[in-house]
Parts: sequence; C-alpha cells; structure tokens
Amino acid sequence: MTTPRVRIAPSPTGDPHVGTAYVALFNRAWAKSQGGKFLLRIDDTDRTRYQESSEQQIFDALRWLGLDWDEGPDIGGPHAPYRQSERQEFYLEKIGELLENGSAYRCFCTQERLSALREQQNANKERLGYDGHCRDLASDQTAARAAAGETHVVRLRVPSEGSTIFRDELRGEIEIQNAEIDDQVLFKSDGFPTYHLANVVDDIAFGITEVVRAEEWLISTPKHVLLYRGFGQTCPRFFHVPLLRNQDKSKISKRKNPVSLNWFREQGYLPEALLNFLALMGWASPSGEEVFDIAHFQEHFRLEQISLGAPVFDLEKLDWVNGQHLRKLSADELFDRLEREKMLPDGIDRAGLSTILPVVMERLHRLTDVREKTSWFFGEPDEYKAEALTPPKSELSAVPATLQAAMAAVATVVDWNLTAIETALEGVIASLGLKKPQLFMPLRIALTGRKDSPGIFEVMEVLGRDRSLLRLEAARALAAGETRG
Ligand code: GLU
Repeated sequence: MTTPRVRIAPSPTGDPHVGTAYVALFNRAWAKSQGGKFLLRIDDTDRTRYQESSEQQIFDALRWLGLDWDEGPDIGGPHAPYRQSERQEFYLEKIGELLENGSAYRCFCTQERLSALREQQNANKERLGYDGHCRDLASDQTAARAAAGETHVVRLRVPSEGSTIFRDELRGEIEIQNAEIDDQVLFKSDGFPTYHLANVVDDIAFGITEVVRAEEWLISTPKHVLLYRGFGQTCPRFFHVPLLRNQDKSKISKRKNPVSLNWFREQGYLPEALLNFLALMGWASPSGEEVFDIAHFQEHFRLEQISLGAPVFDLEKLDWVNGQHLRKLSADELFDRLEREKMLPDGIDRAGLSTILPVVMERLHRLTDVREKTSWFFGEPDEYKAEALTPPKSELSAVPATLQAAMAAVATVVDWNLTAIETALEGVIASLGLKKPQLFMPLRIALTGRKDSPGIFEVMEVLGRDRSLLRLEAARALAAGETRG
C-alpha cells in the first residue's frame, strides 16, 4: 500500500466549524497510524463568502485540539502554496489541458439566457442544469472569442451517454447516469476556478491517496471522477463520512446546535474530550470503551470502520465525556488548564484547588463549572433568604434551635475529620428526633447557599471548623430574624 497522504480543505467562510474538526480527526488519525502525511489546504476560491479572519481561526482551533498538520499554508511543504487563491497558475494551466483534450469547453451563455433556461426547466418540471448550448461550438472559434475578451466560463464536458461508475470505500460501487450529471462550471468568468476543478487539480498535485470528507460531497464525486479521467489520472480512494446531525436528523446547523469550535472552547470543553466525543460519532472502539484518548483512537482506527449511521450531536453526551476527561486531571493540571484558557476564577489558588477538588470533582462537566461549584469554598456561600433554610415538613422557627444544636455538637469534635463530623451530627439528629433532611437541608444552605452542594460532612471537613461555625451562626441569626438576608 502506498503511504497515505490525506488532507482537509476547509473554506475560510466564518467561524471554524466542528465538522472540520470531525473530518480532520479521521484524516489525521489515518495518516498518523500509517506513517503518512496529513495536509491542510485552504479552499478560498469562493471570494464572495471569504472572511479574512477565518483562516487564522481555523488554524488556532485545530491546534487547540491538537490536530496539527504536516504540510499547510502557514508551515509550507513540498507542494506549496497550500492556499488555493495562490495557485491560480496551476488552475489556468490545467484548464488549458482539459480544453485541449476536449474534456471541457468554453461557454458564452449570458446570465439572462441561463436564468430563462432555469425558469423554463422549472416550469416544465425538468431536471435543472445546463442544456449544452455551447458544447459543440468549434474550439478554434471559442478560443478566438475568449482571446478577444468575450466573457465566458469553462464547463466540464460530461459524456451524453452511459454512466459514471466509482467506488466509495464505505458504500461500495456507485453508478450515476451521465444524463444526471450537469456540465459543471469549472472556471468562472471572474477568473477563479470553482471548487470542483481546484479540488481535483490540487488533490492530484499534492499526491492525495484518500479523500476523506463529508458526505455532502458524494453527489459531486462523479464530476470529480470525470475530471480525474480528463487528466488521465487514477482516482484516490473516496470515503464520505456521514454528516453530524441535529436531533431531528437534519444536517448540523447553527440554528439548532453550536457548531463553532470557538464556542466549545469558550464553554470549557477539553480538547481531548471533544475529540473523544467526535470520534464516537463515527467509530466504536473495538474494546468497547467510550472514554479514550487520541493515542488509543489512532492505534485502533481504520478508515473502513467509519460507521454510516447518522450521528446525532448530543451535547449531554459531550458533557458526560468531558466530565470523564476532567476527572483524569490532577488539581495541578486542572489549574494549568484553567489558567491557559483564562478561566481561572479570582481567588483560586493551587493549594485550595487541590483541597476542594476531590469534593466537587464528580459535579464538574466543564472547566467553566469550576467557578460556580467552588465559589462557596473560595468565597462566601451564595446569598440566600431566611426562608431557604426552612427544612422539609417543618417551620423556619425550628431552624435556630436546630442550628444551635449542630454548632454545639461540632464544637466538641476533637479530630476534625469526616467520621467525627458525621458522628457529631448523627447525635444531633437522634437527640432532636429529626429526619436527616431536616438537619442537612438547613446546614447545606447555611454552609454553601446552594441546594446542590456536595455532601455536608465533606463540605464541613474542607471548610474547617471555624468557617463552618461562622456560617452556621450567620444562618441561625438570619433564621431567628436577628439579621436580614
Ligand atoms: N472546501 C470544501 C469544504 O469546505 C472541501 C471539500 C473536500 O474535502 O473536498 O468542505
């Protein structure tokens, strides 16, 4: 087998898209696992949709994910340039070749004629597409008209009979009737190639062995196959990866899902977790685990194993996967990540984080949760009203005595540890004849201001006796109406 050379070819048309990372992940893993090369090409021939800041954002987002490339516009490589807007001379040369051998022809149809044609096809419920008006013009005449500066495009000459057959490695043989394939514009009147021409010219020039890309391009592949033939080249192997889907199975879109890689970063997802999640969308580990790192993925992944099911993008699952990866970090590593992502909440220090982390770890899903889940430890409890202290099936008026008893009990604890705190508080429950929630609920609010805090004993242990007592006293005074909440 030849050593793989694979690529992604994002278009810089907006925020870096999660689909780009998805396809990059598969391409790169394949290249790495086979000792091949992973290339990044920037497809920027569509000047109407071009956005200047987009390219750098694509680089940054992919690097954040660790999906770095072996050849690309910013690092160069043996086939530079890797930006299509800088490869104009190649496309001009190659379109000349196709015109020469008859695989393409010049078309002088005006916009008006094409619009009228479309309207007519619509009205007659016919297949939309070019009607071949300029197909049979003599090539020396069309060359002369072009040389005289007449506006024109260049189109692919699709055979009028027969069919085009190609293989998609995930789907098998695909046969398309040539009558169904449009005489695609290859070169536009603005002097830029279309995606189809530029893509095939570059994939040939870069020696691409496998084209692994989103399923939406499957429909264009017969045109590409005809182009490879026009250039007298064999096709690469094609793998069309199922699109990520919204819950309703439509193609993932920003109306229904976050799609910008910037968003995932800002939300506090870890790059390794996002990659893990994306890998799960199209692949299952042979050993069955759902949480793995990129090294595991790279070792076991084969292109042929990409599954064809429509993968639904499920943010809850991503939260779960992210939580699993967060749990693998030590307190120091977590601190570093928070710092690097500029998400380190004020007042958090390394020592404090390592104290509190075991207590809150199970509750963290994203880096951004750290602030909220630890605020009661690094700062004061969340603000609460006296009523919030009211225990289930009881009255606020009972709270001061309950808290008083709790304070007295914990004040006598000799060794401040989990078991001792538990014993002391169990004693309060027994002596006051309470149900557990009748003590723990007001304690929880008093100590953290939150209904969803970690276990009370853990909370008290990490807060220490003095801070715990101060908070209980403040709550008691509030419940007794001595202060205002
Ligand atoms: N520029 C295309 C895109 O944005 C590349 C498609 C391909 O990989 O051929 O997805």
